[in-house]
Amino acid sequence: MTKWRKAIWDILKNSKKPLCAEEIYKINGFKPNLSTIYRALNYLEKKNIISSVSFENSTKYFFPKERHIHFLYCIKCGNIEVFNECTAKEIKMKIEKQFDYQILDHVFYFKGICKKCREEE
Ligand SMILES: [Zn+2]
Ligand SMILES: [Zn+2]
Repeated sequence: MTKWRKAIWDILKNSKKPLCAEEIYKINGFKPNLSTIYRALNYLEKKNIISSVSFENSTKYFFPKERHIHFLYCIKCGNIEVFNECTAKEIKMKIEKQFDYQILDHVFYFKGICKKCREEE
């Protein structure tokens, strides 16, 4: 891995939340340009090292593939929370049978309004 790929991988590993390219770019002391970050993220995703999720807009948020996580997305402030509980296994077998389909992965998130935004209303 090149220096920046390795550095970005370390940042994502150490972050509890998924991060987009701009957020990685804004990390103090981290100084590749934005297109280098995009290229590194694309590379890591293609190599199946990281995964991404996007919500209301096309911004992709990246996280280590090895981490099976789901998301809470606040439609007001865009804040992302992460949780691990997964109920997909129960549905998976039923759907695979019903559609004669081999399911490989899933992305799951709830949309809503976070506590902070509700308090500000
Ligand atoms: Zn919010
Ligand atoms: Zn799951």
